[in-house]
Amino acid sequence: MNLSLKTPIEKLPLIGPAYVRKLHKVGVKTAGDLLFHFPFRYDDFSEVKKISEVELGEVVSVRGKIVDIQNIRTWKRKMNITEALIEDEKGAIKAVWFNQPFLVRNLKKGANVSLSGKVVYAQEGLQLSNPSYELLGSGQSLHTARLVPVYHETEGLSSKWLRAHIKPIVKLADEVEEFLPANIIKNQNLFLYSEAIRQIHFPDNEEKAGNAKRRLAFDELFLVQLYMISQKKKWEENKAVKIRFNKKLEKEIKDFIDSLPFKLTDAQKISSWNIIKDFEKNRPMNRLLEGDVGSGKTLVALISALVVMRSGYQVAFMAPTEILARQHFAEAVRRFESPHPNPLPKGEGVIKIALLTGSESKYYKDGEVKEISKKKLLEKIESGKIDLLVGTHSLIQEKVIFKNLAFSIVDEQHRFGIDQRAKIQTEVLGIEDGLKTVPHLLSMTATPIPRTLALTVYGDLDLSILDEMPKGRQKIITKLIAPANRKLAYNFIRDQIKKGRQVFVICPLIEESDVLEVRSATEEYEKLSKKIYSDLNVGLLHGKMKPKEKEEVMQKFIKKEIDILVSTSVIEVGIDIPNASVMLIEGADRFGLAQLHQFRGRVGRGEYQSFCFLFTDSTSATTARRLKALIKSNNGFELAEQDLKIRGPGELVGVRQSGLPDLAMASLSDAQLIKCTREEAEKLIDADYKLSKYPKLADKLKKFTKEVHFE
Ligand code: ADP
Ligand code: MG
Repeated sequence: MNLSLKTPIEKLPLIGPAYVRKLHKVGVKTAGDLLFHFPFRYDDFSEVKKISEVELGEVVSVRGKIVDIQNIRTWKRKMNITEALIEDEKGAIKAVWFNQPFLVRNLKKGANVSLSGKVVYAQEGLQLSNPSYELLGSGQSLHTARLVPVYHETEGLSSKWLRAHIKPIVKLADEVEEFLPANIIKNQNLFLYSEAIRQIHFPDNEEKAGNAKRRLAFDELFLVQLYMISQKKKWEENKAVKIRFNKKLEKEIKDFIDSLPFKLTDAQKISSWNIIKDFEKNRPMNRLLEGDVGSGKTLVALISALVVMRSGYQVAFMAPTEILARQHFAEAVRRFESPHPNPLPKGEGVIKIALLTGSESKYYKDGEVKEISKKKLLEKIESGKIDLLVGTHSLIQEKVIFKNLAFSIVDEQHRFGIDQRAKIQTEVLGIEDGLKTVPHLLSMTATPIPRTLALTVYGDLDLSILDEMPKGRQKIITKLIAPANRKLAYNFIRDQIKKGRQVFVICPLIEESDVLEVRSATEEYEKLSKKIYSDLNVGLLHGKMKPKEKEEVMQKFIKKEIDILVSTSVIEVGIDIPNASVMLIEGADRFGLAQLHQFRGRVGRGEYQSFCFLFTDSTSATTARRLKALIKSNNGFELAEQDLKIRGPGELVGVRQSGLPDLAMASLSDAQLIKCTREEAEKLIDADYKLSKYPKLADKLKKFTKEVHFE
């Protein structure tokens, strides 16, 4: 029969209806699909030895004749044991299998076999325990005496079955079209696509397996990069308001900065300058401001906003939660309007700030915050009477029409997900495909992602990094508390509260279950408020509370009416309570290092020495290693790097949400490969943005972006 990549699996030899169903379930419909079902690791059975030479403990392959084979039933352990004696020229060894009595039907006395497995010691000497086996003389070995591919075994598809059925179609790799430009293959010393596919299934040796993996990982990362860079180009084809940073503006900004009660960090200055330079171009900025918790991102945002507002345009500032939006609103009011030494011009020139969330609409005027109906606020925005609109998703959801929006800021951008970010760029701002005037866009994130990684995950953005903390910040003392010392920690907390401080208690993250998370926080709250600290004020905050309720609790905490705030991870994003000095985290092992670091960043924001106490039930070595890293390091970027090493890239917030495909995800810790793919993609896009000379690559990219749901 004429086999091709398109041949439906039901037409392949030896695949019955039951297996067709199983394969369909995992999305394998054609021979080509089956060919692209890759193994995730190999059993190294490549060492073949004479039986007389095998050693205890090694994984080895031997070949010989079956001189005896029989099933034995052990009555005590109710187990079926198959025992065989295998002999070669010089030696003999016993092989033992458990609960596979059917083996005797395949492996008959006198047959020549190849066996691979671990050599163990049993009563009468060395033996092979549960070895892989195959009859000799049936051509190339498949399950023994080589690097044997191991596939994810889902839907009852065993690796053994997959190996046997992929082997006969692996020659179809020749039909797979090469899509990478020849010079890239040459420069990067890559396997041809067909060779990579052949070798990924049945590698000749370790090195070739590595090369095959590298080629396939290169492909995915390269396609991601191509996509990101072309998105960037596309974005830059739009127009944006060009804002000249003239002398007058420069003076105003300088006055504003001088009016602040502190000096900007160098990193803040550089980042603000990056942004001001971007504004001067007539194409839209798309920049990510990455900075550790407390590095002062908000201020960079406000300085940039001021540049735009003083040039006569509107600014939108979006945050992922109401609490955070309110805080930014308050911060904007405080910085722009409060009686600082060099107040901005009053009257005509005054900055008008408004807040719009799902539950409220307010604006600031003449020294006070006023309620206003949503409808009236929307009118004010449309007629240009509001300069800075701070808010939540409402900014996307409500039909907000600006008079002349020139700059949008998105805080904690990773919280919004790819879809919403796209929506910010398109719907909110009224941008469709094609040339338009769009606002400059600044995204901010406090989940530091190492730079190389950011180049992939946020490869469509320019990057500014706040890698420096404002001066005079104290180091937070972080301690892992043994369960036996819980009481001591509780007493310590009581002491802190006596001194006037406040405390956060974070309850463990419970996977995929808001309900359980809320319950555990509620139980913790009951315990603390009724038993441990019945004489103190304990508050509770969780994701199932209404925005108004959350606000009330936060307000109480800010006003010091609450001493101890028990919360789920909703507390995470940038809340600023300078009086809080203890962060206690239950179930610390459940969180990523970067996230723990974020929690820790909730304290130590004022003048008081602050503490972070970690509790965990986990006794695993990995947990210990991770929490030690947190104790040692106070640098979010370093911690993210550690998490990357220990738990892999999928655990980094922001990466997980990126929608990257598996191989690319797995390769994210390979900085070298990321660099290579980035460079090649940049070169290619610079030379041929539309990929018109590489139709096969263009085609592949199109399919790829569909598959991974970038679009
Ligand atoms: P984050 O980067 O986590 O969003 P914020 O912008 O909330 O941090 O800043 C944390 C606190 O530090 C705020 O109270 C802010 O006013 C203050 N801050 C910002 N920049 C500086 C600076 N250069 N020196 C001292 N304090 C600063
Ligand atoms: Mg912040």
